[in-house]
Amino acid sequence: MAIKVGIVGYGTIGKRVADAVAMQKDMKLIGVTAHSYSFNTEVAKAKGYKIFTANGDADLKLNGINPDGDINRLIEEADIIVDATPKDIGRENLEKLYKPSKIKAIVQGGEKHKATGTSFVAQCNYNEALNKDYVRIVSCNTTGLCRTLDAVNKKYGIASVHATMIRRGADPGDIHHGPINAIVPVLEMPSHHGPDVQTVLHDVEIFTTALSVPSTLMHLHTLTVDLKKRAAVDDVVELFKNSTRIRIVRNAEHLRSTAEIIEFARDLGRLRGDMPEICVWQEAIGITRNSHNKLLYMQAVHQESDVIPENIDCIRAMMGFKDGLKSIKMTKH
Ligand code: NAD
Repeated sequence: MAIKVGIVGYGTIGKRVADAVAMQKDMKLIGVTAHSYSFNTEVAKAKGYKIFTANGDADLKLNGINPDGDINRLIEEADIIVDATPKDIGRENLEKLYKPSKIKAIVQGGEKHKATGTSFVAQCNYNEALNKDYVRIVSCNTTGLCRTLDAVNKKYGIASVHATMIRRGADPGDIHHGPINAIVPVLEMPSHHGPDVQTVLHDVEIFTTALSVPSTLMHLHTLTVDLKKRAAVDDVVELFKNSTRIRIVRNAEHLRSTAEIIEFARDLGRLRGDMPEICVWQEAIGITRNSHNKLLYMQAVHQESDVIPENIDCIRAMMGFKDGLKSIKMTKH
């Protein structure tokens, strides 16, 4: 029997998770919520998705949309809810709607780890989400860090990590955030990303710093990793090539920037031009030979899409599908 999934919050993340759910053979999309009328509602209607109101139906009816019910109806019809509402609303919905209704729910990286007590990246800790009622998918940055660091940790062992996140100022469709003409450092040490990585990779010692720049396409991370075992650049390239949801990109392909990576994704015909894999630049992988064996690399993270396959695998884990590797292989996105 297909797993019945409801999506609450149909914005940047919610609309992508809805499309991904609709693509999976073992899942059925029950519908999505509309908080207010927008072009997103028109897209959901055009795709034939059922629309459930999250804030009354007046705005929708005024614009010619006949909703299929309200959010409580969606919760009744679904086995599990993926909540992709803005920061803090997911936690409120968890307490006010999902727990009283005894429905399983996933919240996103805008919420804190303590909201669910379990944080998830499929290739790192699939089993921790098995049969759980409430799980958080970590943020786009944390997902990117966890994917590559998990691969490095399993092969070489990590003594410690320092990573800097050069973050896009806003998503492409966001007209409210910036910066437009500044580089803005995060004035807290460490930035929240390091402790967030430890909610998934519990034993990795990591210190992070972050800053925002005027770009919308992707984040860029620079990492310095002290390894427990010696490594060679070629072996690290092979490791990343063979790891889940990581892509090696190269100067020779003219993939020298976040702009060219997104153009590449568009040209590959990816839905919305998404690049859910973490892209590591081959020529920017380096090793310094000192007593600690330092590995350096740079990676690009497509913030709008890297967490989408994680939501799909998490649904399976929470619904009791035991084989994490099989789930990762099954997931279409
Ligand atoms: P968004 O603003 O693009 O979309 C949120 C949607 O929720 C909007 O359509 C809004 O109308 C709707 N909404 C607001 N209040 C609601 C309510 N009470 N009930 C139902 N719907 C409601 O936000 P987003 O960027 O998709 O972020 C959602 C979550 O995903 C956040 O926790 C965020 O931190 C996380 N996240 C975002 C990104 C990103 O780059 N955009 C990446 C990873 C994780």
